[in-house]
Amino acid sequence: MTNNQPQFDSSPKFYVGFCHLCGTGPLGLRVCGDCAAVVIVCDECDAAWTGAEIEQPPTTTGVTTLPCPHCNSDLFEPPAHWADAEEMQACEWLKQATQQNRLVVRNSKDSYNSQSD
Ligand SMILES: [Zn+2]
Ligand SMILES: [Zn+2]
Repeated sequence: MTNNQPQFDSSPKFYVGFCHLCGTGPLGLRVCGDCAAVVIVCDECDAAWTGAEIEQPPTTTGVTTLPCPHCNSDLFEPPAHWADAEEMQACEWLKQATQQNRLVVRNSKDSYNSQSD
């Protein structure tokens, strides 16, 4: 199986709501493979934000590649990946935004079946 378009490795592990641009995309937390920044990425329209200001226009929008808003590295390609719980907790802007209730992080596993780790 080959694909001309770069694809995300499945769905985000954690997401913080839904995209106001396309209206349907879950806003996942993704980690850049180069600079290791945690950014918010719409799984549908590939808009990317550097922080919690998801009401603002996105910092970058994906076309055929999805450049990291910090370092321009391609967020599609491994080692870029969806953030796991540890990476999420290590992210300062995210911690602040959730403490201030500006963002609510949801675990996408919760909507499928409940798993004990
Ligand atoms: Zn980067
Ligand atoms: Zn979107």
